Amino acid sequence: MKRPYFRFVSVFLVAIVVSGFFGFVFAESEEINLPQRKIVVFKDGVSDVEKGRILSAARSVKVHKLRHGDALVAYVDNTSETKLLKNAKVVRVEDDVVVEALEGAADATDKKAKPAATQPVQMLPWGVYRINADRVWTLGETGGGINIGIIDTGISTTHPDLLGNIKGGVSEVAYTSNWNDDNGHGSHVAGVVAALNNTIGVVGGVPAANLYAIKVLDRNGSGYLSDVIDGIDWATANGMQVINLSLGTTTDVRSLHDAVIRAQNAGVVVVAAAGNSGGSVIYPAAYPEAIAVAATDFSNSAPYWSSRGPEVDLAAPGVSIYSTYKGTKYATLSGTSMASPHVAAAAAFVLKRATDTAFDELDNSCVSEFDVNCNGAWDPKEVQAKLEATATDLGTGGQDDIYGYGLVSAYAAFTN
Ligand code: CA
Ligand code: CA
Repeated sequence: MKRPYFRFVSVFLVAIVVSGFFGFVFAESEEINLPQRKIVVFKDGVSDVEKGRILSAARSVKVHKLRHGDALVAYVDNTSETKLLKNAKVVRVEDDVVVEALEGAADATDKKAKPAATQPVQMLPWGVYRINADRVWTLGETGGGINIGIIDTGISTTHPDLLGNIKGGVSEVAYTSNWNDDNGHGSHVAGVVAALNNTIGVVGGVPAANLYAIKVLDRNGSGYLSDVIDGIDWATANGMQVINLSLGTTTDVRSLHDAVIRAQNAGVVVVAAAGNSGGSVIYPAAYPEAIAVAATDFSNSAPYWSSRGPEVDLAAPGVSIYSTYKGTKYATLSGTSMASPHVAAAAAFVLKRATDTAFDELDNSCVSEFDVNCNGAWDPKEVQAKLEATATDLGTGGQDDIYGYGLVSAYAAFTN
């Protein structure tokens, strides 16, 4: 009687293995109803207790609350989503998609090299030179006092060419409350904006500006959209004047757009990388409230991978850009990630110049070319208009899908 028993057990085991295997195949081809990370947006005024009740009733599991009061992140399956959407207190349920840092081709030897025993002698990176930032320095302006938020992988807390300019930060990622850069991308972007003008390494476009590390991406350079949204809202609440988003997604999510609109309405200039696919401009760059930046190389041509479309506003150096990196290192990277911070620096210069505020008493109207609302301050749309009007036209005449209004010029934006 031992043998049939053994046979029964083996048939049973085979059945488990086979069903497991087919279960996996089934999941791949027909999409099993698994819980996904979603952003659940509630109507204003729904209490946290009530939100919790609504989620439990729909069998959803809350992950965390977003900084902006009416939304939270939860694991929601298809059945739960249907239930949630039937509730009048739920406005919408959106995918909490994965967002990626927009770093393209990299010089792998730089990234993998051990930190040098001594810091290299300071050089002027070609991109900072190309946007004529150094010519603004000769006028005595280096961007002092302007708060620039780097929404990225963090900023190195040990880099001698950045440290003096880092005034604060926040981590929005779940695994750490430390905004130190465990990837390198954010430190690279930060260095393009504001590496120190000293004797070592590189110099950023506005070497006296205040840097804030807003960590939303992990050590692999990816993160959740909800953390990016929280990072934008942190910047809006904490006095950032310019934010740089060298990241994005092809998915248009309303909650991301709303956060960008909140930032702009609060006076924050939003600068974002156009994308590295060579295809359509990604989000948040594609939103009208963000300045979308394409990349150019040493000969002012756009690389094939620089994303394009009517949403491109400006172009800036993004090929073979040498800057600060993880720890105390430096690296040469390419991507619209590297182009965007050149425009962030130029925007800081615009914020430092006087407005052209002028009011016609007879006409009872504003006659300023750039301070269109005559409030004596640079509002984000006015900063963008100044940058576009003073850019150097590239490609086909006038605005085009590859270069937008052209190559940004920090000097022309500050002086013209
Ligand atoms: Ca330096
Ligand atoms: Ca104004």
